[in-house]
Amino acid sequence: MKILVTGGAGYIGSICVEQLINVGHTVTVFDNLTEGHRLAVDPRATLIVGDLQQRCDIEDALEKTRPEAVMHFAANALVGESMTNPSKYFRNNVYGGINLLDAMHAVGCKRFVFSSTCATFGIPERMPIDETLPQKPINPYGESKLMFEQVLRWYSEIHELKYVALRYFNAAGASATYGEDHRIETHLIPNVLKVALGQKEHVEIYGTDYPTPDGTCIRDYIHILDLAQAHMLALAAPVSAKYNLGTGGGTSVREVIATCEAITGKKIPVIEKPRRPGDPPRLIAGSDKVRAELGWAPQYQAIDKIIAPAWAWHLKHPHGYGD
Ligand code: UDP
Repeated sequence: MKILVTGGAGYIGSICVEQLINVGHTVTVFDNLTEGHRLAVDPRATLIVGDLQQRCDIEDALEKTRPEAVMHFAANALVGESMTNPSKYFRNNVYGGINLLDAMHAVGCKRFVFSSTCATFGIPERMPIDETLPQKPINPYGESKLMFEQVLRWYSEIHELKYVALRYFNAAGASATYGEDHRIETHLIPNVLKVALGQKEHVEIYGTDYPTPDGTCIRDYIHILDLAQAHMLALAAPVSAKYNLGTGGGTSVREVIATCEAITGKKIPVIEKPRRPGDPPRLIAGSDKVRAELGWAPQYQAIDKIIAPAWAWHLKHPHGYGD
């Protein structure tokens, strides 16, 4: 298939692009390179530098490439930042996304895979979080993604768009070539690995008084290659659907740090800090629906199998993509 990938220079997008090309798809990346990196774009893909907030940028890109499907990764995705700058999240994640859908409609492109998030659920009433639970986001990031899921429902009904929304839990790990490099790193695993590389003195733990066994937040970390596999399956989904995507396992902040110490062989000094606003205590996916309907099965369940390739990538790229 001919596929346009927005945000294909970012962490998750770049690895999905690589995997799409590996199985024979033709890929154009559309990215404004504010979060993404030119060097993260697979050289076998075509890169168009453009901004979703400029309607003409995305209209031109779709007119030129006429893809059969679009995968939409381009977004701002930091819970903490969204709590101080909500405008950025609603403009980029909702308005930018609508520009994309309208440009797709104009060229008759009707297949769409959307990067949604478990942050659309807020603090859920029960665990694991399956698709039947109510979505009540507790931060503007989650709200912006939920708003766009609702936009998709109406474009599907009115314009016959066929979409799959994948609600990721915590993407982690790396492929052999591409990995996680954010200009401002707020994520737990890369921050711990930066301490192991000697680039930071300590890692901060945001909250040690959560109602969890060791007092720190629990997340469902999913290997980026398993996540990419779900995107490939979503391309062939027979009907529009929304799926929660995680392994069903939970790892606390302290357990992540201990695993990083074991893998890197380095002591990771920690500083305990207050809770980070907007963080739910525990997020674990119920992914039975995507397993049953798309045949998705994660290959990497254990946290060490997810962190080891991330460490290998960081060792090879201690300064990320260098830009
Ligand atoms: N976290 C932490 N220290 C850090 C970064 C994150 O304690 O330097 C915690 C954060 O509060 C959350 C978990 O680690 O409970 C995962 O955070 P991350 O930012 O990696 O992903 P998120 O769950 O926000 O998408």
